[in-house]
Amino acid sequence: MNIGTLEFYGAAGEVTGSCTLLRTEKARILVDFGMFQGTPADEARNAVPPEIDFALLDAIVITHAHIDHCGRLAMATTLGFRGKIYCTTATHDLLGRVLRSSARLQRARFYERADGTAPWARALMAGEEPGPAPEFPPAQRLFDIPEVRDTMDRVEGVPLGREVKIAPLVSLVFRNAGHIPGAASAELSVGAGAARKTILFSGDLGPERSALLDPPHAPAGADVVVVESTNGERRRDASADPEETLAAMIARAAERKEKVIMPCFALGRAQLLVHRLARLHSRGLLHGLNVYVDSPMAVQGIESLYRYPEYLTSALRTVVKAGGAPLWFPELHYVLSKRESMAIDRMVHGGIILAGSGFMDAGPVLRHLQESIDREDCTVMLSGYQPEGGFAWKLQRGATRAQFTGKTMQVRAHTVRVEGLSGHADQDDLMKWFGSFQRKPGRVLINHGVDSARAALAARLNTELGLECVLPAREVAIEV
Ligand SMILES: [Zn+2]
Repeated sequence: MNIGTLEFYGAAGEVTGSCTLLRTEKARILVDFGMFQGTPADEARNAVPPEIDFALLDAIVITHAHIDHCGRLAMATTLGFRGKIYCTTATHDLLGRVLRSSARLQRARFYERADGTAPWARALMAGEEPGPAPEFPPAQRLFDIPEVRDTMDRVEGVPLGREVKIAPLVSLVFRNAGHIPGAASAELSVGAGAARKTILFSGDLGPERSALLDPPHAPAGADVVVVESTNGERRRDASADPEETLAAMIARAAERKEKVIMPCFALGRAQLLVHRLARLHSRGLLHGLNVYVDSPMAVQGIESLYRYPEYLTSALRTVVKAGGAPLWFPELHYVLSKRESMAIDRMVHGGIILAGSGFMDAGPVLRHLQESIDREDCTVMLSGYQPEGGFAWKLQRGATRAQFTGKTMQVRAHTVRVEGLSGHADQDDLMKWFGSFQRKPGRVLINHGVDSARAALAARLNTELGLECVLPAREVAIEV
């Protein structure tokens, strides 16, 4: 017997804009309300709200604090939403900062496009304090700081494993997803008695084996699984050891007294890198280089792992519970002000800077690159997926020139690619996750992946595990 429908308003055949509506006879729940990201055309789609009556929603569930899953959440109250928003307690801690920084970025992007305000926008993008803002018309933005405040008033943090009733005949339990601090799969129990069904939304899943984060929870079972497939057609090179590549890069930089710039995302890669650097320190392979984390969000992500050690591997959890700090070493410095961020540009005897964004398209990393990309005593780390056509993508292909704030610079910095730092499950990890279910899941709906990734995963799930898979189309209701 069907208990309702699922409708996908984003991430159906693509990797951003996660937004799924569960509609039952008595309740309406939205799972994730993310931004579309990538090209300017994708970003323009953010201004068009999904055709959902937000006033009729009982609740919104957020799986994690990445912008492609929560970035449009602060539009919900303006659209009429009056219910509660549920996420894990760790995500709750991170969400306000993520949404505020998104509001600031929207402002910066608007001013970048508007005549005569570009210097103000550049200052803001570089994390400076640019003075009073020029006018930012409401029609030009998705939301601003007051809407973030209204949104955060509706958020309720729920610990992993605790069941909470979120709508008539709907209860929710979060399960660790192993992706970033706070990331969870959302298990919804819908209906009562014999008609009760479990619908499991995987959210983004982490790799099965991580040096830092606990692997995704092995589910008891589910009648319907909505699974992400970002890396659904990729298989990681298991022999790639990021720590050894980092060790070699750091040894070279230390010997030549170089500056190393590690562009990274504040939630996910920044914590993975700091942990790897802590391990290198303990192995005597950091060679005394100072490490600067130039991102308050990344620092908050690190701190959240001490506060919520349940997201760490069992070995690291034991260390933290015994009072240890596996993401700390004496050379680690948190950069929390613009002045400190500027000061590290002038460092002379080598050092490592972690700064966002990982795509090198915004944030303080732009200023660090502008300061040093034309210097031979600088190394830039490259890692993970990069959007085609962007600066990081060009750098990976050996670009010899870079454009910063209208100025063309010669690229003289050395680049090193570090593999094995992905926060996403690859195809083998996803297969293992499905293999770990105590009861074979019923129907599998594959979203959050390009069509070739969804098809590749579906084919393997069908042949190896006999699972029936559906690739939902955008805005088409699927009976569940
Ligand atoms: Zn994510």
